[in-house]
Amino acid sequence: MAEVTLDKIVSLCKRRGFIFQSSEIYGGLNGAYDYGPLGVALKNNIRDMWWKEMTQLHDNIVGIDASILMNSTVWKASGHVSNFTDPMVDCKVCHARFRADQIDLNGPCPNCGNKDTFTAPRNFNLMFTTHIGPTQDDSSVVYLRPETAQGIYVNFKNVVQSCRMKVPFGIAQVGKSFRNEITTKNFIFRSCEFEQMEMQWFCKPGTDEKWFPYWREQRMKFYDKMGIRMDHLRWHQHGPDELAFYAKDAYDIQYLFPMGWQELEGVHSRTDYDLTQHQKFSGKDMTYLDPADNSRYIPYVVETSAGLTRNVLMALSDAYEEQQLEGGDSRVVLHFHPNIAPIMVAVLPLMKKDGLAEYASKVEHDLREDFTTDFDVSGAIGRRYRRQDEVGTPYCVTVDYDTLKDNTVTLRFRDSMEQKRIPVSEIVSEIRKANKEYKRV
Ligand code: ATP
Repeated sequence: MAEVTLDKIVSLCKRRGFIFQSSEIYGGLNGAYDYGPLGVALKNNIRDMWWKEMTQLHDNIVGIDASILMNSTVWKASGHVSNFTDPMVDCKVCHARFRADQIDLNGPCPNCGNKDTFTAPRNFNLMFTTHIGPTQDDSSVVYLRPETAQGIYVNFKNVVQSCRMKVPFGIAQVGKSFRNEITTKNFIFRSCEFEQMEMQWFCKPGTDEKWFPYWREQRMKFYDKMGIRMDHLRWHQHGPDELAFYAKDAYDIQYLFPMGWQELEGVHSRTDYDLTQHQKFSGKDMTYLDPADNSRYIPYVVETSAGLTRNVLMALSDAYEEQQLEGGDSRVVLHFHPNIAPIMVAVLPLMKKDGLAEYASKVEHDLREDFTTDFDVSGAIGRRYRRQDEVGTPYCVTVDYDTLKDNTVTLRFRDSMEQKRIPVSEIVSEIRKANKEYKRV
């Protein structure tokens, strides 16, 4: 089987309207990307699936949407102002900058090849700053949030009081985060502007021992539901050198990306560190009075923190396949699970003429209420199937001359390329059934 490379994914993304370089006509901007029509559909589908999983299908999880700009003290309390840094070195010859933990400091400069040219490592804060209000001094500094989690912690009391939530419960949030990443290679894997899907689970101290493995299991199951190949996912437990000083335990879910095993999501046992810090810095009481036994405590937190945009890259890499077909033909196919496919069904009239296009157009309009659809009349039917395969459309419906006689259509399945003849009136139920039973082949 042909190797899946990042270059192939990048090229498909541009060619078919998934992802473009930001401000491309001006030469682009490092670490920033724009999602095209298919990319935004894919990203929204993953986001919606996560949101449904966390808030609708789970007991006791509610959502919030906090603002990106927050009071700067939040980031002092969280430790980001003093600690959210990467060690950086500069090459004294070419002035290129690298993360000290990602290169061999005794080797040559990866940019210019000179040896012994690196400065001593210096800590570089990853937060973007800007100013709010008319003056630009230290007092008006605000940060673009580097994670969504703090928006959840600072709303802990609001949510408890307004929604009468009882511990254990969770707060979920999806949103943009920003980090001034120096090494932004590997496409959308590591960008300066990205999206996170985070859930903070508040529980009684001690019960975190039970919830931590529970959430690890839940999060891995989610990727199975998303149709990701499970042999491309694994756990990585943080060793003593990786573990944040306040964390009790931490695991990452890693995915086998085209460039190797890399972090996709973190599941972390954070103790009462975050709420305690906010209590200290804000002077507001963050304790919870447990009606079960009248005890008062600051809840412990188990966090699940996934990159949404990194999930998009995983979904694309996992789905991508170049297949050799019988007769010397070949195709690129994206095996998206129907839950996340940008287009569910494409309707294709065999010919434009003789009323076939009009008939097919009506079929497509009727399907819109139930599914995302596409309509394509141009080119040979085989080429139109290939185009849909390449963007991961699970089903094609073809309208031909027999359709005009007996109101039946051909339903074609992307993965197996099998076709079956069904009445027009059964398209929706056939697709729903196939979606329920979907297994990648
Ligand atoms: P890394 O070690 O890759 O820099 P991290 O451990 O700092 O990541 P967290 O702070 O735990 O990452 O963030 C949680 C999740 O957010 C990550 O698992 C990843 O999916 C996503 N994420 C973090 N930084 C970026 C980024 N720069 N671009 C895209 N996604 C990111």
